[in-house]
Amino acid sequence: MMEDRWVDVALPLPLYQTFHYKIPTEIQHPISLGSRVWVPFQRRKLMGYVIDIPKEGYPQAKEIFSVVDPKPVLSDQALLFLKRVATYYASPLGEVLKAAFPFAPTSPAKKSTPKEIPHFSTPDRPKMLTTDQKKVLHQVKTSFSPFRFAPYLLQGVTGSGKTEVYLRLIDEVLTLKRQAMVLVPEISLTPQAVHIFKKAFPQRIAVYHSRLTPAERHETWKAIQEQEASVVIGTRSVVFAPFPALGLIVVDEEHDSSFKQEEKFRYHARDVALIRAKHENIPILLGSATPAIESLYQTIRKKSTLLRLPQRVEKRPLPEIEIVRLQKKDAHFENTLISQPLKDALRETLFEKQQTILLLNRRGYAAFLLCHCCGHVLKCKYCDVSLTVYLKTQNLICHYCAYTLSIPKQCMVCSQEELGLIGFGTEKIETYLNELFPHARIARLDKVSTAKKNALQKILSDFSNGNIDILIGTQMVAKGHDFPNVTLVGVILADIALNLPDFRAPERTFQLLTQVAGRAGRGEKKGRVIIQTFQPHHPHLNQVRAHNYFSFAEEELKWRHALHYPPFRRLINFKCQHPDMNIALQKLRSFTEKLEIWRKSDPLFSIIEILGPSPAPLFKLKNKYRFHTLIKAPSVSSQQALLTEALRCDHSFREMPRIQIDVDPLNLL
Ligand code: ADP
Ligand code: ZN
Repeated sequence: MMEDRWVDVALPLPLYQTFHYKIPTEIQHPISLGSRVWVPFQRRKLMGYVIDIPKEGYPQAKEIFSVVDPKPVLSDQALLFLKRVATYYASPLGEVLKAAFPFAPTSPAKKSTPKEIPHFSTPDRPKMLTTDQKKVLHQVKTSFSPFRFAPYLLQGVTGSGKTEVYLRLIDEVLTLKRQAMVLVPEISLTPQAVHIFKKAFPQRIAVYHSRLTPAERHETWKAIQEQEASVVIGTRSVVFAPFPALGLIVVDEEHDSSFKQEEKFRYHARDVALIRAKHENIPILLGSATPAIESLYQTIRKKSTLLRLPQRVEKRPLPEIEIVRLQKKDAHFENTLISQPLKDALRETLFEKQQTILLLNRRGYAAFLLCHCCGHVLKCKYCDVSLTVYLKTQNLICHYCAYTLSIPKQCMVCSQEELGLIGFGTEKIETYLNELFPHARIARLDKVSTAKKNALQKILSDFSNGNIDILIGTQMVAKGHDFPNVTLVGVILADIALNLPDFRAPERTFQLLTQVAGRAGRGEKKGRVIIQTFQPHHPHLNQVRAHNYFSFAEEELKWRHALHYPPFRRLINFKCQHPDMNIALQKLRSFTEKLEIWRKSDPLFSIIEILGPSPAPLFKLKNKYRFHTLIKAPSVSSQQALLTEALRCDHSFREMPRIQIDVDPLNLL
């Protein structure tokens, strides 16, 4: 007679405990850790992961329905890694597992038809490396024999040839019979990079991103698992892919905020990649022209090694940056938007048959609609933000909840027909440029112009093939594009990013401006950059002009130290939102009080700062009022201690409204 058997199962629910089930006697074959099983849960049927096989169990436990995988989908090693990640982010294990293995079990592995890829002119690969590239290559290779954990930060100026370094390292990893993972911010925005990797490793590459169908994802995961794919380039969730023989992780543009997942299981793919590299005992290379301050700080603390590519390839100069002061009263700025120097430069560039990129980090035609009679501003019904004006479609749109209204004729408050447009966005610039240069081919790159399927690919390939003269857009134009014929970059208004109420605003501004400037002059022709601003003497703008990342970083580290911000403190943001303001506040208040009592219980914790609860800067979104409590902890260990306590002492994470935990938050709005 068979003895009773039990399993502990993690379910993909926002719950922190695991669940105990009995295996019915019909199921005879052995069950391993990391297998998926169907189980009953509160009258539902859920798929969970076996994460423990206890020797003892409750005879009255419910029975599982069936076993999904005869073989485990997660190795013991993988399970250990995922548990570590779950602990770090104080996230339910079931949700982390779901991120790691995100498919329906029954998805048929039918062959997908290859998608049509628009043509991109990618340069031939260089035969010779520069001396600097060779040095970097040599350094990282020292961690290949034998493979060992070693984090590297590669600070290479824009156009310094970072990609070629990645490719050569991956070549080496493949000859050593290992696999390589390349994390990139957004596949669709940088089709060029994918193209280069595909060309370099035609038979052995897999591309992974969020727009694949479940069947395609399943196929990719299997190819990785069976080592048919030995190089994988993908967006953030690829960090969880089941590589059996990983040898190297590359995180390109490691400073990019799209590595952070902002909902459900909140994680930062770069940080998870670091945990993974350590777990697998392999090197990891973070690359950027503008590394995150946190990443640079790790090199100062000697936790990681700083490598540099201080020059562009072939001794090409970095573009010259000119700062143009805007004067509202003289130029009627809102009507013209483009200063004389920028206008002249645009004209010259058009004449030379070269290309221009213009950055304005704001969508729409106007920022909002104002009644000149009573001062009323049209706001979203559900969010505490003004509605953005779109003239082409005659709409007002909320950027947070997509609430849409057609532009009214008269004010809703005073009924006067005195509504005026205030501020401006990419749509207005586009209209204005079309008037200014009627013969130029102008395109716009932002969330709106690329909403339709394939629109983004079309714009980028048209630009790459020289069918567009001027590309105007939001931060999307600043990504790692390599268009050799772009010789002019203009920033319409640098001030937008400078003045956000967020401690990362200076860093984001520096990154954005440096990155967009880096699109100019990448080919044989010299590039120039014109930055328009109302604050021409702003120190950050001068550091951008001097192409001096390190001087910027030094200043930034000083004031972050003084104000107790990362990397000198570890943050946790506890958030609570509810349609009833009092419910949200009360909930977060009693939770915060408990944390406060705990903090006082041990002198070791007295250095932890607990700030809040306070209203979030965006106080109301999607009809919910939002509060947060911000924690500043002096170290990872105190950050983790607080999280453990928070999960232990409180039921807030189970009962509605739930308190959401954001560990190492990027966005405090
Ligand atoms: P980054 O990512 O550092 O901004 P890229 O990797 O896009 O720079 O390289 C910029 C350009 O320089 C690419 O067109 C690339 O083919 C070229 N390149 C890279 N390495 C070399 C080299 N050693 N010699 C000549 N050209 C190179
Ligand atoms: Zn809204």
